[in-house]
Amino acid sequence: MITIKSPREIDTMARAGHIVAETLALLARTVKPGLSTEDLDRVAEEFIRSHPGAKPSFKGLYGFPKTLCTSINEEIVHGIPSARRVLREGNIVSIDVGVLLDGLHADSATTVGVGEISPEAQRLLRVTREALTAGIAQARAGNHVGDIGHAVQQVAEAAGFGVVRELVGHGIGTQFHEEPQVPNHGQPRRGPRLLEGMTIAIEPMITAGHYGTRTLPDKWTVVTADGSLSAHFEHTVAITANGARILTQQGDAAASP
Ligand code: MG
Ligand code: MG
Repeated sequence: MITIKSPREIDTMARAGHIVAETLALLARTVKPGLSTEDLDRVAEEFIRSHPGAKPSFKGLYGFPKTLCTSINEEIVHGIPSARRVLREGNIVSIDVGVLLDGLHADSATTVGVGEISPEAQRLLRVTREALTAGIAQARAGNHVGDIGHAVQQVAEAAGFGVVRELVGHGIGTQFHEEPQVPNHGQPRRGPRLLEGMTIAIEPMITAGHYGTRTLPDKWTVVTADGSLSAHFEHTVAITANGARILTQQGDAAASP
């Protein structure tokens, strides 16, 4: 069922989203060679819980054990933070985080370079970010979910990159994953219609090689089947009368303490 949120609920999600954005900004400043993904997870959990009433969305969700998903290089999503996973110069690391505040969730992800990264990795990050921006621009009342996926796909494939099929964006609200599914590929005017008051997470997962995936024996970490690099950027947005309102960014006026 697709749920419509009230303006008050959307403002609450923006407050959760502001904490998400501040967490990702803190982590982007923290990332450096020699730190483990467990170190990042600890920083994130402490920061989130320092806000009264805020909790990490992921911890315990479907049994996931940590606050963050941290996915290095060919890992696409759902990497589990570990003291044994140490960041190395030239890696790219995707960091995904959700916050639950006053009964509502917000969800965002970014991919950052560890020290100096290759020109191809830089291009992958830039194109994936541009694909997210293009998808968000289609998140307007009266458009369809397929318009978002089509826009993401156009940007990624024009750059020669792959669009992951098996994992998709999603509605979000009182439940972390709600309907509709928001694929990163598709056709214009297809799929559920977007209505004012819907809140969705748009999250392109783009690969430098083929888009095929496999899941590691830990049953969580999804990697590219061909071992190519992958990037992931995500925002939670609300469909408003004035287009998409990004709820997971820093400096949102509704989110001031
Ligand atoms: Mg996410
Ligand atoms: Mg998500």
